[in-house]
Amino acid sequence: MPGVRVLYGSKDSYELQIPAINEIESIFGIKWANKIWDGHANPPEIPGNVELGKKLSEIVGSDNVFLDASIRLKHSLGMSSPEILDVRNSNFPAIVDAVVTPDEKDIIPLLAFLESMKIHGVIYGGGTSVNGSLQSKKNAETVAISTERLRKLNISEDYAVVGSGWKGFELENKLNASGYTLGHFPESMEGSTLGGWIATKAAGQESNYYGSIEDRLLAVSIMRSDGVVADTISPRESAGLMAKDVAAGSEGKFGIITEAAVKLDRLPTKRFYRTFVVESFEAGIAFLRNMKEIPAITRLSDGVETEFSMKNSRDSIGLKYVRKVVRMRKFIDPSLLITIDNNQDRITKPPRSISIGSSPAKIWERDRYKRPYLGNELWMRGIVPDTLETSARWENLVELYNSTISLFKTLQGERKFRGFIMSHISHVYPQGACIYFTFAIKSNKEPDDLIAIRDAMLSNFIRMGSPVTHHHGPGKLMRKFVDGNKLHMQSLLRDPVFSEVG
Ligand SMILES: Cc1cc2nc3c(=O)[nH]c(=O)nc-3n(C[C@H](O)[C@H](O)[C@H](O)COP(=O)(O)OP(=O)(O)OC[C@H]3O[C@@H](n4cnc5c(N)ncnc54)[C@H](O)[C@@H]3O)c2cc1C
Repeated sequence: MPGVRVLYGSKDSYELQIPAINEIESIFGIKWANKIWDGHANPPEIPGNVELGKKLSEIVGSDNVFLDASIRLKHSLGMSSPEILDVRNSNFPAIVDAVVTPDEKDIIPLLAFLESMKIHGVIYGGGTSVNGSLQSKKNAETVAISTERLRKLNISEDYAVVGSGWKGFELENKLNASGYTLGHFPESMEGSTLGGWIATKAAGQESNYYGSIEDRLLAVSIMRSDGVVADTISPRESAGLMAKDVAAGSEGKFGIITEAAVKLDRLPTKRFYRTFVVESFEAGIAFLRNMKEIPAITRLSDGVETEFSMKNSRDSIGLKYVRKVVRMRKFIDPSLLITIDNNQDRITKPPRSISIGSSPAKIWERDRYKRPYLGNELWMRGIVPDTLETSARWENLVELYNSTISLFKTLQGERKFRGFIMSHISHVYPQGACIYFTFAIKSNKEPDDLIAIRDAMLSNFIRMGSPVTHHHGPGKLMRKFVDGNKLHMQSLLRDPVFSEVG
């Protein structure tokens, strides 16, 4: 039996060059040819609740109720590394009792039923959450409400009213066909939904140009067990707290975001691409800090990520030339800077940098949604990849980077796991930037090591005055790091059907 696929996206293969494979083999002591897991899990044999299924069928129709164990497992977890690791080790989360895919008209009666029966609801968009926010209560009857059928799409000039169940590429392709873009490009475009973006307060890769998801919202409709909360579709409203303010970052706790009126931009008429190697990550950060205008994509990799990118580039005369110039110029920590701009060329050359043309930026863009498949390749070879991200003011960024990397290395020495850590800066603001850490480990006590690393890194973010997350949302996994008063304030808005997880 193939079981349920628990890895990201529809593919597993990611093209790696021999030097990159050699590097991974040597760090983790593995043979690349040896795959030890296919990324699937067999759900435990917990029978579906037939009585509950019948009652749900009366509300949403029998074609929209699922009791099958595989479907229920799929809707009981997201794609955070602790969740995938647990499932890989057959340590299953609480599994929902049923999955429903309601039409918009059935949602209010569905919520009334769940509330009257004290049944817990979990809202499921694309399932790409990386923070445990899809996990439900153990020992509580729970129904996963999938937004799959919420597919309204009315495109007007410069805005559209969009059902929350649209997935990234599907929606963007429809908008592109009318000459528009939403301007929201998360790496998870293939699997994540509009509702999930809003509920996690997500940021796309071109946020420097288009803003993050909250900047794209004109109005939102939320269906709750006590009624519908909706904004007017207007350029601005000042009638206090709006549905869109409540929806952004609500993580499924305040009700179902059924649709949103989103701002559209015309597709860019031209893209500009430039790539540089700067002498160090720190020099790159200083350059970003002083930039007068920020190109749509401005992505600075640290030395480790840069070296891995070079090892994974096809061996070419260009690459040999870059390596030679980097040596000649005695760069201490060569760091790659990818810049792409829309409509106008606002890209300037960093001081003392080596300009390496447009190709690396174009290749980065070509592969930008495939990179998560490298994570799948690692999982299948017994390696545990993970990411954490935060934002910091410019004056703290270098120290936050150095202290986080050194924490990881200290833990590696103490706990004796194999692993690596690398970082990049992506979303850039006048006051600071988002810094993203990618790491991977392998040991004989991975769940404990993973939690120890995550807790230490998150505590360090907080010690440095940074949030626990810039765009993934805290979810269940990082909730303990969120300020108690903030959680209390948020709890006032909670819908009882979507009460506390865990
Ligand atoms: C490979 C990979 C790359 C990623 N890249 C990015 C990135 O570039 N930028 C970024 O910001 N994030 C990224 N993420 C994180 C993830 O894709 C986002 O958090 C995304 O917004 C989640 O959307 P989803 O539809 O998958 O939501 P889900 O995972 O289904 O749900 C996430 C949360 O939102 C709630 N929710 C979902 N839909 C609704 C709704 N209609 N109403 C109310 N609540 C709802 C759920 O209950 C849950 O709490 C990435 C994740 C992966 C696995």
